[in-house]
Amino acid sequence: MTTNVKHKYPPASERITLPGTRFHRIRKTVQAVCFLIFILLPLFDVMRFDITRERFYFFGAELWISEFSILFLSMMFLWILVAAMAMIYGRFYCGYLCPQMIFSEAANSIEKAIDRKIERKLSGIGPGARRVLSVAIFSAVLLPASVFVTFVFVSFFVPPADLFHRLLTLDIRTAPGIVGASITLVTLLDFAFLRQRFCTSICPYGYLQNMLADKNTLLVHFHDANGQCIHCDKCVRACPMGIDIRRSSHQLECTHCAECIDACSGVLGRLGRNTLIQYAWGDTGQTAAPDTRAGLLRSWLRFIGLRDGKRIAVLILLLVYATGLSIAISMRQPVLVQIMPNRITLYNVGADGLIHNHFRLVAVNRGRVEAHLTMSIADLPSAHIVGMEDGVVLKPGESVKRDFDVAAASARLVPGVNRMNILAAVVPAQKSQAVAETFFAPLDAVPAPQPAAAK
Ligand code: SF4
Ligand code: SF4
Repeated sequence: MTTNVKHKYPPASERITLPGTRFHRIRKTVQAVCFLIFILLPLFDVMRFDITRERFYFFGAELWISEFSILFLSMMFLWILVAAMAMIYGRFYCGYLCPQMIFSEAANSIEKAIDRKIERKLSGIGPGARRVLSVAIFSAVLLPASVFVTFVFVSFFVPPADLFHRLLTLDIRTAPGIVGASITLVTLLDFAFLRQRFCTSICPYGYLQNMLADKNTLLVHFHDANGQCIHCDKCVRACPMGIDIRRSSHQLECTHCAECIDACSGVLGRLGRNTLIQYAWGDTGQTAAPDTRAGLLRSWLRFIGLRDGKRIAVLILLLVYATGLSIAISMRQPVLVQIMPNRITLYNVGADGLIHNHFRLVAVNRGRVEAHLTMSIADLPSAHIVGMEDGVVLKPGESVKRDFDVAAASARLVPGVNRMNILAAVVPAQKSQAVAETFFAPLDAVPAPQPAAAK
């Protein structure tokens, strides 16, 4: 369905921007918010995959790489969210939310502003010298900007404090330092030369969005049933991707940014006519406005893009994953406790005259604060913990392995297998954990006298 029409990317100086127009203003506001979110996500561990510590931070929860179920649900949730957005709202992400687009447009604006300033202030020197000066000033702005963007991007994978330290010491000797310097160079070249070309030549998400689109997906649509186009070409000059929307609504380069809508609204508005370019649901040309003929709920479902069963099914699937993820995160215990019996010897008699069984504790603190773990025995009379009476203190991120005994007086045991529960309690409080275990007593142990039956 998507067509790849031959196009050119006009240099910044030939492109017109339409500040103050409707969609331009909305888009710049949304982009500013997204830019802020892009910076805050890794700095506050809202969403970050720390490859050095093998942790995934998701809305405040520190997930260990071993927590497969939560990681799986998180990935599925994000993947379905991305697919649902592409299916319903087309390339809205590209035009409004994508960091690559935000920085490319910022680079265009800065370059254009520098060119204009030099043109005005230094009109006395030759065009070649002015060009050299423009490039030098633009590069001087681009370098720290690229370092900053790279810093934020790499913070998604490396702790920001560690990264900041490497930046201050200009670390280009260690592997992470070399990776950071290489990404900075790629970012610099990207914003110096590629910019929006990245979207149509490299970015896989652009292609994926076009594959997921169907006849009901939101797109930018040119419709001129009565031949009202005055062929002013303002929509083409305003297009940051250098395409002509009148040729097709399905051009691969179109990021649905709506600059052409603003351009046409401005031109035809002055003639008292409506724009010929609009946001529409698929090729039907039906504009993205509430459908007053349908019932209230149906009208709003259609208005927000849920125009058929497929979209509603995707939304329900998204809700299922979101619910599953919330439940999994809320049930998550910061301190993971595993207790295993050591059956090299079934039991032995200790110096204290008690029967001892050996166990091993493996505890992991996946939380962010120090935790104190203590254990006790339930359902086995006189049994108690030996060798770890004071419990164990776990620093954040620490895992420990400890051997301990459970000891009990033989007179209180039945010969052979006894059942018991080992209770693990954690401070700061989390749900206490009971581990069902068996305790072996000698077969010739004298069983405890049973209480007389009530008469
Ligand atoms: S054709 Fe219009 S919506 Fe598409 S990229 Fe160009 S200006 Fe944006
Ligand atoms: S801005 Fe509108 S009137 Fe002008 S060429 Fe584009 S579609 Fe036609």
